[in-house]
Amino acid sequence: MIYVSEADPDEEGYDLAFEPRNVFVKRKDPKSDYKLGEELGRGKFGIVYKCVEKKSGRQFAAKFINTDRKDDRLAVEREVDLMRQLQHPRILQLYDAFDDGTSEMCLILELIEGGELFERVICDDFVLTEKACSIFMRQICEGLEYIHSKNILHLDMKPENILCVSRTGNRIKLIDFGLARKYNPKEKLQILFGTPEFVAPEVVNYEEVGFGTDLWAVGVICYILLSGLSPFMGDSDLETMANVTSTKYDFDDEAFDAISEEAKDFISKLLLPDMRKRMTTTDCLTHPWIKSTKRRSMAVLDKSKLKKFVIRRRWQKAVNAILALKRMGATLKL
Ligand code: ATP
Repeated sequence: MIYVSEADPDEEGYDLAFEPRNVFVKRKDPKSDYKLGEELGRGKFGIVYKCVEKKSGRQFAAKFINTDRKDDRLAVEREVDLMRQLQHPRILQLYDAFDDGTSEMCLILELIEGGELFERVICDDFVLTEKACSIFMRQICEGLEYIHSKNILHLDMKPENILCVSRTGNRIKLIDFGLARKYNPKEKLQILFGTPEFVAPEVVNYEEVGFGTDLWAVGVICYILLSGLSPFMGDSDLETMANVTSTKYDFDDEAFDAISEEAKDFISKLLLPDMRKRMTTTDCLTHPWIKSTKRRSMAVLDKSKLKKFVIRRRWQKAVNAILALKRMGATLKL
């Protein structure tokens, strides 16, 4: 059985994967410097493979991003620029970047071998407790606090973008800065993207976004991790978005019977309609549920609903991957 270690991740000699590097996009084929291996995952924008740097023999992850459309190259350049500014143990590090003029750009990233957090916690040998959840949520908030300290918004916080460093330890890292944006509080920033289950009301309403937008998603992730239920999920994306704007959710399901009032308070202070009233990352880190993890319950949580949630997300990802392939011009023979 795997119990999440109670040690603070930083006490385990938790460091950056490599020295900070000033990465610039190289105008050549990544295969001249890296040998590609097995596929690690895929999303709407990219396919990620294991790879080895030929000169050092070191392993990395290579994310290939389709750049067919006009603005795609600029978007990847922006991702590189933002990742270059982020050097923190809770954040995926960028090692190299390539643009060989074809219809794909490639980012060489720190390799993270523990898989997606939710995939890992639903494994039968993983013991999920409220204490484990609060340890994971604390690290998510630490990563986000650092991102926000650089005036960057992640804007795509969701379970798939939280990876485990190893299969047995308790360390996580935040990934995927493909939708991230530099944030200037004096300039109004509106966005029209995100995953309906995790987007905040201000995104659905096409209103100004800010640091609080990421914290809404933290509230949704925490709600799901503890209960396996998605607070605003409807039968269609439209219904989900209507639920988000109504900001109506509750803790009535029996899945919450075993959950502490402090955990519910933590979520309630994030799922607020007005983003300015939500806790900041720093508030989150001083919230009693996060701060006093030693007091958290070690009672084993029922994961049956969380398993169903993860299986549904796998299906959704598969559909998204097919849609992405179609967008790239692939024809499907079923
Ligand atoms: P999305 O559809 O969520 O926007 P994307 O196309 O931007 O996704 P990523 O989220 O960066 O792509 O990566 C897709 C998947 O690949 C991740 O969910 C993860 O499982 C895997 N992955 C990404 N980066 C790494 C890495 N550095 N090490 C190991 N696996 C990774």
